[in-house]
Amino acid sequence: MRKFDIIIIGGGHNGLVAASVLSKKGNKVLVIEKNENLGGLSNYVDSLSYISEEVLKELNIKIEKDINENYVSALSDDLNHTVLKITGNKNIEILQTNASESDQANFFNLINKYDLFARTLRSFMFNKPPRVKSGSRSDIWQLFSMGFKVRLLGKKNMRELLRVIGLNIADDLEDNINNNTLKGLISSEAVIGTNLGARSPGSILNLLYNQATNNSIFRINKYNTNSFLKSIREICKKNNVEIETNKKVEKIGISNQNVNSVLLDTGEEIQTSSIISNVDPKTTYLKLVGAANLDTDFIRRAKNYRTKGTVAKIHIDFENEIKINNLDTKYLSGKFVYAPDIKYIEHAFNDNKYNKLSSNPCLEFYINKNKLSANVYFIPYLINSSHDKAEILSNVKMILEKFITENKILSSAIETPNDIEDKYNISGGHWSHGDMEIDQLLMMRPFYGSSQYSTPINGLYLCSAGTHPGGGVTGINGINAAKQLLKDKRNG
Ligand SMILES: Cc1cc2nc3c(=O)[nH]c(=O)nc-3n(C[C@H](O)[C@H](O)[C@H](O)COP(=O)(O)OP(=O)(O)OC[C@H]3O[C@@H](n4cnc5c(N)ncnc54)[C@H](O)[C@@H]3O)c2cc1C
Repeated sequence: MRKFDIIIIGGGHNGLVAASVLSKKGNKVLVIEKNENLGGLSNYVDSLSYISEEVLKELNIKIEKDINENYVSALSDDLNHTVLKITGNKNIEILQTNASESDQANFFNLINKYDLFARTLRSFMFNKPPRVKSGSRSDIWQLFSMGFKVRLLGKKNMRELLRVIGLNIADDLEDNINNNTLKGLISSEAVIGTNLGARSPGSILNLLYNQATNNSIFRINKYNTNSFLKSIREICKKNNVEIETNKKVEKIGISNQNVNSVLLDTGEEIQTSSIISNVDPKTTYLKLVGAANLDTDFIRRAKNYRTKGTVAKIHIDFENEIKINNLDTKYLSGKFVYAPDIKYIEHAFNDNKYNKLSSNPCLEFYINKNKLSANVYFIPYLINSSHDKAEILSNVKMILEKFITENKILSSAIETPNDIEDKYNISGGHWSHGDMEIDQLLMMRPFYGSSQYSTPINGLYLCSAGTHPGGGVTGINGINAAKQLLKDKRNG
């Protein structure tokens, strides 16, 4: 029987990041990926935005920034589009808009306020989340430093942070801005990939969380996904990580609450004393570990962990190069958002609540010559049924026809959250492997008894987006899980 020091289940970016950290320390590492291609859900990412300088430094890789200047265009039905130019991460200018001067000023005030709060949260994103009851010195220090950083905001800002953190984004925007396009644009960033509407409490928290990991509110194009994955694979190759694709782990072998092997769909069993699962927490516990190895209360928590995916991916090929009506072609390299106002987003979200397809979904898309790649939301994951994909396409087409005329669609492909679940074996096909809401964040992510990357099974760790600090292509989950495993190994 083959034997490895550490087996990583899943070759998503977090699995590969964990493999590169562990192999650098001389461990014999095997990565097993069910699909032919590595990268997992990062294959859906049109812009690699969340990867931070801190992570690149930690992994000791250098990748070129795609572009330093970027555009975000918020499309409006009356063709009075709003265009932002973003230089670096945060230098935002409004290039065109029909918003009043005072709305524009208030828009920047809000962006600056969110940026200040996100910077306060940012330092908590890179470490393992502290556990209140652990009694460990590092956890207590981290909790203290969290409180101190919030206190450093000063009385006025601290009160404002505490006021907005549980609030919904719609209320804060409506208190400050009148322009619908600007309100829709910010709301879109607060709800995409979630089960939150613009009026759901916690939507500001989600926005701040994303902004804290991303260091930018508009998830803009900074690094190219493929160059990031390529660099990590090179480290793995250099350190002799074995990567086997087209193989699926069916079961984690456990005896006396210790992991001892993985069983593959090929029938092969491979021995190990340490496993990191890049698969989402729910699938890891309920399918790979199995209920027989967990206590009843823990199983209940795993079952209750919310993983209903809400984003579908659509690729459309047009006959000719795509142009957007009433928009300069120099902005075509940027991101487009169609979420024209708060009411529109809220209606799309209401359908999602009742597991219905919205006939008026929101879109976030990128264009490359005659190709268009869109995140469509809200398209709810369905249990025991499937979506009418022709209906989704027709709804998306109806929106695009407002802006792209005299161009014919040659072909299109849709992947719903159900398809994403099937392809990647991720519960609900969820963007973040589980909702990013207050009860599923920080030391509560994925849920009580399973935070800090370790699990009730000795030698089993989690590194997926379902752990702190959540989804997006950050690599942080992979680094932290690997560090936790190394620390536990050192401590015997
Ligand atoms: C439609 C869509 C659009 C998105 N757009 C963006 C975006 O624009 N920006 C952004 O930052 N983030 C985006 N995300 C989110 C981001 O892609 C994910 O949060 C992130 O890639 C998760 O990475 P991961 O490594 O934790 O998990 P995954 O990428 O899900 O990796 C898990 C891997 O495990 C494999 N696997 C599962 N089960 C098994 C098994 N039993 N045996 C072996 N292998 C197994 C899977 O095939 C997969 O490769 C998007 C997500 C979706 C769904």
